[in-house]
Amino acid sequence: MNKKCSQQEKGEGAGFNSILEDIASKTDRAFIPLSVLLEITRLCNLNCRHCYRIENKRRKEMSRHRILMLIGELRQAGCLFLTLSGGEPLLHSFFVEICQGVARQNLALQIFSNGTSFSRPVIKELSSLNNIFSIHISLYGANAQTHDYITGQKGSYYKTINNISLLQEAGLNIRFNYIMMKNNVNELKDMVSLAERMRVRFDIDPLITPRDNGDRTPLSFALEDKDLETVYRYFLDNSKGVHPVRSKSRFSGTAVSEDIRRRTSNGVNLLSN
Ligand code: SF4
Repeated sequence: MNKKCSQQEKGEGAGFNSILEDIASKTDRAFIPLSVLLEITRLCNLNCRHCYRIENKRRKEMSRHRILMLIGELRQAGCLFLTLSGGEPLLHSFFVEICQGVARQNLALQIFSNGTSFSRPVIKELSSLNNIFSIHISLYGANAQTHDYITGQKGSYYKTINNISLLQEAGLNIRFNYIMMKNNVNELKDMVSLAERMRVRFDIDPLITPRDNGDRTPLSFALEDKDLETVYRYFLDNSKGVHPVRSKSRFSGTAVSEDIRRRTSNGVNLLSN
């Protein structure tokens, strides 16, 4: 990408973001659920060490009918952006039908997935929908060893990488969701290179939370302030086209560490342009 083009895109991106922020603050004030994330299942085929989820087999999940009704209600309430998440959303028995229901309501759809469960028929169905904004795939390292150690499943890295290529071939917009933690922070540079090689935009998410039952074990994987500062400085110093969601001017110098803590406790991610 040439420099001029990149700068122009950055300018347009910043303008678009500020329009979105403006809309979001107006809809917030009017209690309109502009953007909603739905966890459609608690099931997952991976067993990540840091996962907050507690599987409860007795807990009943929402039926397809109820989810489709809910999507209609959200549309009526003013929702425009819907994210399907989990667990692993593709494990919901009616995942494709739910995506089709989102398309019928003309909502922009994002999917958060671990990327291991996309079959060719599912990819074909998704590529026929015209409302998919992006598919965010969680990656936990720059190589199979780190990623598979965190997911607890050998082969998950290559399955995910392979499926990303299939999704890209189908013309779907993919983003990496880099879950940054102690185990992979040393691979930051390689993770950025991987995204560049695969021509995938990425978000960095350092937020690790306790389990649903209050167990704080996952927090032992969370980055410490000094690591967070290293991550921020890496992007600021390397001009990788990555910026905090909010204005850079809101953190600088000695305020960085405190600001990072506040941002991460609010779940704010770093976004690539
Ligand atoms: S992929 Fe996500 S939901 Fe599944 S085990 Fe890992 S962190 Fe939990």
